[in-house]
Amino acid sequence: MTTFNDFDLPKSLQKALDDMGFVTPTPIQERAMPVILSGRDMMGIAQTGTGKTFAYLLPILKQWRFVQADTPRVVIIVPTRELVVQVTEEVEKLTAYMSVRALGIYGGVNINTQKTKVYEGVDILVATPGRLMDLALDNVVRFDALQKLVIDEFDEILNLGFRVQVTSILSMMKQKRQNILFSATMTDDVDEMLNDFFDFPEEVSLAASGTPLEKIQQLAYHVPNFLTKINLLKHLLQEDGYNRVLVFVNNKRVADLVMESLEEDFDGQFGVIHSNKSQNYRLNTMASFQEGELRGIVTTDVMARGLDITDVTHVINMEFSEAPEQYIHRIGRTGRADKTGTAISLISPKEQELQIEAEILMEKELELLPIPESVVIADRFLDFEKEKQKVKILLKRPKQEGGEAFHEKKDKNKKVNLGGPGKTKPRKTKPRNRGAEKTKAAKRKKKR
Ligand code: AMP
Repeated sequence: MTTFNDFDLPKSLQKALDDMGFVTPTPIQERAMPVILSGRDMMGIAQTGTGKTFAYLLPILKQWRFVQADTPRVVIIVPTRELVVQVTEEVEKLTAYMSVRALGIYGGVNINTQKTKVYEGVDILVATPGRLMDLALDNVVRFDALQKLVIDEFDEILNLGFRVQVTSILSMMKQKRQNILFSATMTDDVDEMLNDFFDFPEEVSLAASGTPLEKIQQLAYHVPNFLTKINLLKHLLQEDGYNRVLVFVNNKRVADLVMESLEEDFDGQFGVIHSNKSQNYRLNTMASFQEGELRGIVTTDVMARGLDITDVTHVINMEFSEAPEQYIHRIGRTGRADKTGTAISLISPKEQELQIEAEILMEKELELLPIPESVVIADRFLDFEKEKQKVKILLKRPKQEGGEAFHEKKDKNKKVNLGGPGKTKPRKTKPRNRGAEKTKAAKRKKKR
């Protein structure tokens, strides 16, 4: 079996790994090492939890030589502020015995403080696309000494709508550099960017058996409505073993709603994180969770990607992910590195189609469990569930009832778009061969 000793790392780097207690490289670390060391461009397909951050940091740091430069030699672009903080920390841990200046920059905080830090000199810069573009346009961040560009979670960066920022940043960089790209899934958007801006990077992907999915037990309940989901959630949380729990929902309104319900029975045990919460609040809540002061966090997909939260015992999907890839990212929050974990999805009748899409993508079925008898089945639907239902019914009506229904449909649709949660946004990403998958999904549905 390969160990980190086989990588022939400089002593300072090896010692940092020893301090962390890491002995064996993960599959993506083993496979990315020779490609990145060769200087070729690379496109790595790996999800979070596979050790992908060290997969690019280790070869970069193995080749590190002292150079007199104050502008960054390595730029790492990541989608979220939390990920900037996390990757910067990983760089700092690995370079504990090296003299490498790492700096993380992201939006939403004072730009002048960050400018001062950039001027003090930086070797490895970790950044979100928007803030990096702003500082580069201002000529504060300069790419004169840049040798390597890492784009991590490329699919998510594009999902979040940062294409313009990324292309603008690329246009400010000189051609001669190594590009190291990582994406959890190969989407059409990523593919298009590769064609337009990168020259046939070598693709390094993990065999299906190397993905962390195998270590995750995937359970599901078919639940008639949201209030029953809340009852079931509370029932589950009374059971043993639910020590570190991430509860996922699809939007911040539902996140607040679930949080309020949990406070009734589990006061002070849960926190909530979504995009309306301030950066400080989010980081503090994360820290409380990481330190075990909080038992769980209710969150939207803001947190599903990238963040490294250790020892999550359970991921609970209160609402099913609208994109199947997102489901995989969510459940990837548990079962990380050498741990196992459990993912539980509470699935409403409308969400069952999304479940099938995810199952097809994973080539694996969720294990369906009956709702425990002691869970009260509610018969009331909440407003946001009703809104979704109405749309569905009304969309069918014009055929049956003609003009009158048409006006009604328009009004209702408007109402939903103004604030109703749920599937009002079209999917931005499509995996390759999406058409083929759809057909498969349809066929399989018919079979059931
Ligand atoms: P990542 O996929 O980069 O988010 O990493 C997931 C987690 O695995 C992080 O907590 C890393 O510190 C940890 N990790 C990375 N490489 C290894 C390794 N070779 N052995 C054990 N854990 C690792």
